[in-house]
Amino acid sequence: MKYIGAHVSAAGGVEFAPVNAHQIGATAFALFTKNQRQWVSKPLTEESIASFKAHCKEYGYQPEFILPHDSYLINLGHPEEEALEKSRAAFLDEMQRCEQLGLRLLNFHPGSHLGKVSVEESLALVAESINIALKQTTGVIAVIENTAGQGTNLGSEFWQLKYIIDRVEDKSRVGVCLDTCHTFAAGYDLVNDYEGVFNEFDEVVGFSYLRGMHINDSKKEVGSHVDRHESIGKGCIGFAFFERLMKDKRFDNIPLVLETIDETLWPEEIAWLKEQAQ
Ligand SMILES: [Zn+2]
Ligand SMILES: [Zn+2]
Repeated sequence: MKYIGAHVSAAGGVEFAPVNAHQIGATAFALFTKNQRQWVSKPLTEESIASFKAHCKEYGYQPEFILPHDSYLINLGHPEEEALEKSRAAFLDEMQRCEQLGLRLLNFHPGSHLGKVSVEESLALVAESINIALKQTTGVIAVIENTAGQGTNLGSEFWQLKYIIDRVEDKSRVGVCLDTCHTFAAGYDLVNDYEGVFNEFDEVVGFSYLRGMHINDSKKEVGSHVDRHESIGKGCIGFAFFERLMKDKRFDNIPLVLETIDETLWPEEIAWLKEQAQ
């Protein structure tokens, strides 16, 4: 079965996210558990945690289909000691928030080498950062998102995801989230080579590591390395790809989350995607 939703607002508290998800007909959702543009946020209150859990239960959202996203400020592959430590501390806080909320997944962008060390060196730092966070938490899986490869961002090529995974000690607690816009912008031609791209993903990384997907069309062409999301069917990827994806059993039983630009379209987009999955 396909579990489809969007990255919904948690304004006012995390407990509002499942309510917002329910209102748009979602069967999965993503959220930020803290302000994504700040380093430090107040701890979650007992009331907020209890209310989040109660709403998830009420609307039937199981932890496997909730894909929290970490702060954009975090760079787990930062080449400088002090900045790396700051990112690692913030990442641990994100993991602990997930633990408190009873969640199983934490989605994050691998980071950036900033042109100061090699790609491999920076990827090794990311893996070490993951190992450090996993040792101090239980039950939460670190879910690495592939990127468009803008600037010095890591993670646009499948081998880079695998390079990180290979260096994570507990393989049961590391996974991958494929963002369709990022995949396309990174140079994988989802439109003309659907089977080729996913076969390559399977060979290099493996579908067993796929823990979620971000379902976005792309404003920019294949290989542009520019991360600009578009509403489903309105970008360079187009409806036919998403129709095929929804019928593809390899993407069953993981959260499929819209991060498309016009949230007023989310109920419509979710309904359309669900229809294609029939
Ligand atoms: Zn994404
Ligand atoms: Zn993006």
